[in-house]
Amino acid sequence: MPKNSIVGFPRIGEQRELKFALEAFWSGKISKAELLKSAEELRLKHLKHQNGIDLVSVNDFSLYDTMLDMIVTLGAIPQRFTDIKDDELTLYFAMARGDKTHTAMEMTKWFNTNYHYIVPELSKDTQFSLNSSKIVSEYKEAKALGIIPKINIIGLLTFLSLSKSTDESNPYNHFEKALSVYEELLNVIAALDNEVFVQFDEPIVVTDLTQEQKILLKLTYEKLSKVSPKLKLIVQTYFDYADKDSVEILAGTDIWGIGLDFVHGKENIENLKSLNGKYLIAGVVDGRNIWISDIKSVAGFLEEIAKTAGKERIIVSTSCSLLHTPYSLHRENKIDTDIKEWLSFSLEKLDEIALITKLFNNQILDDSEKLKIEANEKANISRKNSPKIHNSALAQKLKSFTNTSRNLPFEERIKIQKDALNYQPLATTTIGSFPQTSELRNLRSAFKKGEISLEQYEEGIRSLIKECIEIQETIGLDILVHGEFERNDMVEYFGEQLEGYAFTQNGWVQSYGSRCVKPPLLFGDITRVKPMTLKWITYAQSLTNKIVKGMLTGPVTILNWSFVRNDIPREQTAKQLAFVLHNEINDLQEAGIKIIQVDEAAFKEGYPLRESKKRDYEKWAVESFKLATSGAKESVQIHTHMCYSNFNDIIKTIEAMDADVISIETARAGNKILKIFKETGYSQEIGPGIYDIHSPRVPSVEEMTAQIKALLEIFPKEKLWINPDCGLKTRKWEEVTPSLKNMVEAVKIIRFSE
Ligand code: GLN
Ligand code: ZN
Repeated sequence: MPKNSIVGFPRIGEQRELKFALEAFWSGKISKAELLKSAEELRLKHLKHQNGIDLVSVNDFSLYDTMLDMIVTLGAIPQRFTDIKDDELTLYFAMARGDKTHTAMEMTKWFNTNYHYIVPELSKDTQFSLNSSKIVSEYKEAKALGIIPKINIIGLLTFLSLSKSTDESNPYNHFEKALSVYEELLNVIAALDNEVFVQFDEPIVVTDLTQEQKILLKLTYEKLSKVSPKLKLIVQTYFDYADKDSVEILAGTDIWGIGLDFVHGKENIENLKSLNGKYLIAGVVDGRNIWISDIKSVAGFLEEIAKTAGKERIIVSTSCSLLHTPYSLHRENKIDTDIKEWLSFSLEKLDEIALITKLFNNQILDDSEKLKIEANEKANISRKNSPKIHNSALAQKLKSFTNTSRNLPFEERIKIQKDALNYQPLATTTIGSFPQTSELRNLRSAFKKGEISLEQYEEGIRSLIKECIEIQETIGLDILVHGEFERNDMVEYFGEQLEGYAFTQNGWVQSYGSRCVKPPLLFGDITRVKPMTLKWITYAQSLTNKIVKGMLTGPVTILNWSFVRNDIPREQTAKQLAFVLHNEINDLQEAGIKIIQVDEAAFKEGYPLRESKKRDYEKWAVESFKLATSGAKESVQIHTHMCYSNFNDIIKTIEAMDADVISIETARAGNKILKIFKETGYSQEIGPGIYDIHSPRVPSVEEMTAQIKALLEIFPKEKLWINPDCGLKTRKWEEVTPSLKNMVEAVKIIRFSE
């Protein structure tokens, strides 16, 4: 019997080979055959890496997204794409990315990760029919290497729960049809071999399931587990704990194993007694973070749970797919060596799994394995004690850093602000960044390569700021920004200037399709060495009589877009970040900056999956924003920005952050969503983005006038700000300048007509 497995392996490649192959293919530089060849090479390489692992994942590879692959497997191609009769790949990428005549399918975040999947589109006409070719060929490809493949498939309940309906029909109406296709698929798989492992990914099980979902879970696995005695089915959950009901349901079927995440769902310990003799795929190595395991203590933990689950029934595994972890440390040669010892990326985690398995099963270790375990122990001790991580002076200071409220309540300070800042109703502004042109990218790369000096680089940035201020003045915006040219990324820019942060050269993680992000590593107590934004903002302000808004990234967003520590609670790091920002805000206001925006673009994505854990997150997330901003003088206006519009459930939480003005992304979602602000009541001022910056289109004056009028039906003009719906850095100047001119023109027309 297998002793270990991993839930899945990243597919983008050590040097993002898949990304580059895809992009070359999309731009016509390589052929379909060449793309498929690169994909095959990557798959084979990744399979071989999993040498020391018993159950090796197949079908975790994807040219774009595994949810999209599942749509294809089930034949659930949305009606609107069925006119594409070219080859399958053309259809596939049209669904993923759109083409001239089709808008792409919607993409959204995969649970609480930064990975995005394609949302299945179902309607009452959706047809299902099996297409098992990818799965079969990838199985055979792996089998030919002499390994035991485990086929990864997105489970039916997760598939339907994450689908959207395009015609108000209930996605669960398709349950029976879809289930029969799953059944058919399992029949095909059973014919492949005498014994086949199949893993159904069912992360939906870690959300608060409804009664209906629980029934479907039961029906699904009762049925699928009876398809063939040759199949060993695993239902894999991850990202949090599974509730007792679901585990009991699964344990009552004929499936072979249940996967539980013991890293992000400690409560799963309670489920051990409900396993009913099933194999336990024990997620003990963190698939979402980059820290080394403590190998001995993990083996000890397994020993502990084995008392209930049965030692011979435990499969050592990762907490979730390694998709969310970078590839390997091999190419990291710039990071401090002691910090590097604390890190473990995907390949290193494979090693950890192999070692933990041996230790746990009392297998004989060879010398090199013994050395590895010793080194692991040492690295864990050094991490616990390193002065690079632990700053006791900071801990002392933070004890008295507790004031979360501004001097005056909103109603009083807004009057003072309106006097001091002297802005009219429907004040126009932008979200912060302006186009990042190739000129800017060249400047940055020349500086990084050492081709130009720091002075030359900074001179270049200053001239971009100057030009940006001039353009905004010409356009006639009311509140200006400096344009964020000195930042390549809204988190990395701050991280680079803080103690306690480290950066990788190749720590890429797939975000969607060919897009990857390289989250910074927040490894230690965070402190600010010197002001981070002051020089640029004050320079911008010195160029104009209009107000320039200072621009910071908020504590929660910095945290949510970094790899964070697992040795202290997230809220403690949030407080450290709040302290840093508090000091920065103080420097800005002392230098005469009158409006400061603290972006919380990722506030919502940090929400836990379980209702019972949300309250706690909201509490410390709001608190850290307030700690960061509470030191602002009453006349200084605090803005915030959030990159989404669906506030229904969190509107009161957002209000509690007590920012004076919030700008949000609404342009794509329509005004229906905004009504909630009126219905629920929202005290502070608000700038619902009046046009979508994600599209190159220049909206007309008429269109924006109409949009402002619609907003005035919902919000009083005194509370309404007019702005685009997100930063402009991905757009071109040719789009930005006319769009903003039209926006300002629209406001003039409305103001005049009053
Ligand atoms: N101030 C940032 C910008 O304009 C905000 C980015 C964001 O919301 N993602 O780029
Ligand atoms: Zn945004």
